[in-house]
Amino acid sequence: MFKLSVVSIFLFLCFSLKAYSQGQIFQVISSHPHDVKEFSPFVKTVRQEGRLWLVELKPNYPQHILKNLRPVNPAEVRHYQFANEKFSIASSTIQDYVARVDAHSIKEDVEMLANFKSRQAGSADNQKATAKLKEIFVSLGLEVKEFCYRAGACSLVADKKGESKSDEVIMLLGHFDSVGKNFAGADDNASGTAVLLEVARVLKDYGNKRTFRYFATNGEENGLLGAEHYARQLINSGEIKKVVLAINMDMVGYNSNGIVELETDSKYEDLAKWFSSLASSYTSLKTKITIGAWGSDHVPFINGGVPTLLTIEDWSTKTPCYHMECDKPSTLNYNYAAQIAKLNMAAMMTRDDQ
Ligand SMILES: [Zn+2]
Repeated sequence: MFKLSVVSIFLFLCFSLKAYSQGQIFQVISSHPHDVKEFSPFVKTVRQEGRLWLVELKPNYPQHILKNLRPVNPAEVRHYQFANEKFSIASSTIQDYVARVDAHSIKEDVEMLANFKSRQAGSADNQKATAKLKEIFVSLGLEVKEFCYRAGACSLVADKKGESKSDEVIMLLGHFDSVGKNFAGADDNASGTAVLLEVARVLKDYGNKRTFRYFATNGEENGLLGAEHYARQLINSGEIKKVVLAINMDMVGYNSNGIVELETDSKYEDLAKWFSSLASSYTSLKTKITIGAWGSDHVPFINGGVPTLLTIEDWSTKTPCYHMECDKPSTLNYNYAAQIAKLNMAAMMTRDDQ
């Protein structure tokens, strides 16, 4: 008996303690300051550019750091500056609509969201913010549904029904929860939520063929909970197939070099290049592309087989107040956030015309 249990314990340890061969490359998939502090002593950086951070493990690494590291084939991940040509003919209708984007109303909504003491998912203030966002979506004539992944923690899905191909969906999303620092979370991610509202506002009277869906996600900071929950619902019902494009916005307010990072997985790399053309055609933005998606609400939809992309501020110059109380509205560049709004609006309208 004794002998058997020692063998089974040994086998169990072999299976649970994943041993990686020397030279295995890992992608860092968390930027929480706490996580970075935890794994940094045990890894050697191989490459770090923008949102792509590749490392090797040092000997004697503790198993628990593996939760924030993803083994990758280096050929499958990359980061590069990319400036695609403008479209030969830019749409005057799109130019007309993107010209209506107002940086000031984005600023007002960032301030409104940062005025909630804490937007930590499930907190009383988070629920007040949910109610406020719902009120705004309803005032824009959108059809709003709540998706609660647990009691008191709900995401909002607001639809502007399409006129001719309403069963197909083009989705814009961003999380409104924060890590809970007092009166903060302006860049992460009141900025993305405010751009979501501004796009919905500007496109209020637009004649979209497909359904435009505005998804204000919750629980992102606790592990993409709202996005995972909703993606699973769509997968279980089969509706995920109807989502022809999804655009995530997370941290789109802190920037001074005019660069936006476009992140997705290799199977959607052409989508990122297409966004680069949109940026050249309708905005003043320059683009960088990261292949190897991680760390925000675009991941569940990429895994669900939806053509999905994250638009995020140039990560190499991201806010120094990441997940800190100093992440305040006064630190943001609202003209930059307005350019992100123009880019994603142009993407929704161009895709809808196809
Ligand atoms: Zn975020």
